[in-house]
Amino acid sequence: MKSQKSNKAQIKLCGVGASPGIAIGKTFIVGQKRVKVKKRPILESEITAEQEKFKQAVESVHDYLDTLIKKMPEQIKEHSGILRSHMQLLKDKLLYENTLTKIESERINAEWALKKSLMEIKALFDQVDDAYLRERIEDVEYVVKRILSELTQSKTSSITALKEPVIVIAHELSPADTIQMDQEKVLGFATDVGSRTSHAAILARSLGIPAVVGLEDITGQVVQGELVILDGLTGKVIIDPDQETLKYYQEKQQDYLRYRLDVIHKSHLPAETLDGQRIQVKANIELIEEIPLVLSNGAEGVGLFRTEYLYLSQKGLPDEEMLFQSYKQIAEKLAPHPVTIRTLDIGGDKFVSDISLDEEINPALGLRAIRLMLREPELFRTQLRAILRASAYGNVQILFPLISGQHEIIDAKNILKSVAHELQKEGIAFDPNIKIGIMIEVPTAIMVADALAKEVDFFSLGTNDLIQYSLAIDRINEHVAHLYEPLHPGVLRMIHMAVEAAHNNYIEAAICGEMAGEPMYVPILIGLGLDEFSMNAIDIPRVKRIIRQITHEECVALAQEALKASSSSQVKKILKDFLQNRLPSEFEPDLWHEFELNRDKICQFT
Ligand code: PEP
Ligand code: MG
Repeated sequence: MKSQKSNKAQIKLCGVGASPGIAIGKTFIVGQKRVKVKKRPILESEITAEQEKFKQAVESVHDYLDTLIKKMPEQIKEHSGILRSHMQLLKDKLLYENTLTKIESERINAEWALKKSLMEIKALFDQVDDAYLRERIEDVEYVVKRILSELTQSKTSSITALKEPVIVIAHELSPADTIQMDQEKVLGFATDVGSRTSHAAILARSLGIPAVVGLEDITGQVVQGELVILDGLTGKVIIDPDQETLKYYQEKQQDYLRYRLDVIHKSHLPAETLDGQRIQVKANIELIEEIPLVLSNGAEGVGLFRTEYLYLSQKGLPDEEMLFQSYKQIAEKLAPHPVTIRTLDIGGDKFVSDISLDEEINPALGLRAIRLMLREPELFRTQLRAILRASAYGNVQILFPLISGQHEIIDAKNILKSVAHELQKEGIAFDPNIKIGIMIEVPTAIMVADALAKEVDFFSLGTNDLIQYSLAIDRINEHVAHLYEPLHPGVLRMIHMAVEAAHNNYIEAAICGEMAGEPMYVPILIGLGLDEFSMNAIDIPRVKRIIRQITHEECVALAQEALKASSSSQVKKILKDFLQNRLPSEFEPDLWHEFELNRDKICQFT
């Protein structure tokens, strides 16, 4: 990211705001010495000893993680799954056995064999086109680093022995590092690498520690004990700030603390407009580990559970029992709140080694989601059985993704019926009245929404894909990212049509695309008639707070005006006027410039 040196000595860096809050304090650089690995040929007579050395190193790491799990503070016990998955990775075939085999077949030292195994695993991960999963290579790398430091006996400086409150600076932080942070002593942390979905970031949010990641080279820019300001809201870090900047951020820190207290205090209040319109606010999740955050942020359930993770994270397909256990746990933890489980949205761009698919030129338009499930009914049935079984343990709903027309719903429902019949015959409990919804993310689904609404219990608008397909903008292609316009009047009109069709047929309309969690869009979306918003849990308190300050009536008037606009810049102007007039203190003044440039979320210094 960018670094800007002003006329004073202060250095400004831009990264990714991974956990909100402002920290001001002295740096503590965690010495993550790079473990140097060299290739060393070994004799045949040394093979067994080298293999033993490797096995022992793995055992030591295993014991270390085991102790750490036992000592985990109650508040983050839910996250022990991350460390357990690291324990499993230690013995993963691709890592463990592959390394032992290489030591023998290539007659090389354990460190080099391990490094080669890591390279092979990385090559496999590179083929995965799912950002979340690609980042899970961090876990493998972490485990490998731990084994390597055991093998080479190299020690790193520790976060556990902090004497005073500090801001931790590191190249990267593992989940184990983050878990061991003394919350009294760690004011915040900043790292060179990482993203919002890396485990360290997820944990930082659970622990309430402000964090900025992805700064590229903060470790090369700070010295030990230097004063820094870290703004986890915007992703800014200022090294050695001048007095004026310091004063500005001290005030901002106080404002944020007051704001946070207010927001948290009220996050469990219902999301209700000033004139009494009740809106459901729920969370989008991918992992069971996110549930504590979902509940503590005041979500009224999970509006979108993306179920791809279990299919992408391991070798071989998950069986019914594994899926059932996972869904059951989530349903139980959330009850009586609902969890909307979306059936597998995989294929095309999401690569699963055990489902053989032809390479596609246009993966986003290819065999994905419901289309793939209808082509592979056995895969579909296994997941539906697991979902139905879990429905006996909580409030479960089913969501079918990427529906383009009535025939897909009818086919999917027929398979669901047959699975339900099968379970009934086997005497296995499930909720016979389970609600069925569809994702509205293909333009044709909107054109026939009236017919679709008659087949299901609710709509959920997947605006990420809806915008992609309606504006013909590949959502992962950075060259057209500037054309991706959620406020395009065409998009707003489509949302409105879908909602009208739902309401005319007495069913509810939810929105679960990223738009739902953007506080600025809330008044328009409410005005368009949406009944439910589902978003990243961290965004919930802010969205609820906005909802409580506006009237449904004024939102409807705003949306009516926006629907008549002929361009997104016109919609933006209408929205900006509304927000500045009605919610003047909710948005930072420098946001408007970026809003107009369609760069709402870019970290910028003015
Ligand atoms: C969407 O398309 O808006 C959506 C929520 O689904 P996903 O992002 O998983 O495709
Ligand atoms: Mg989608």
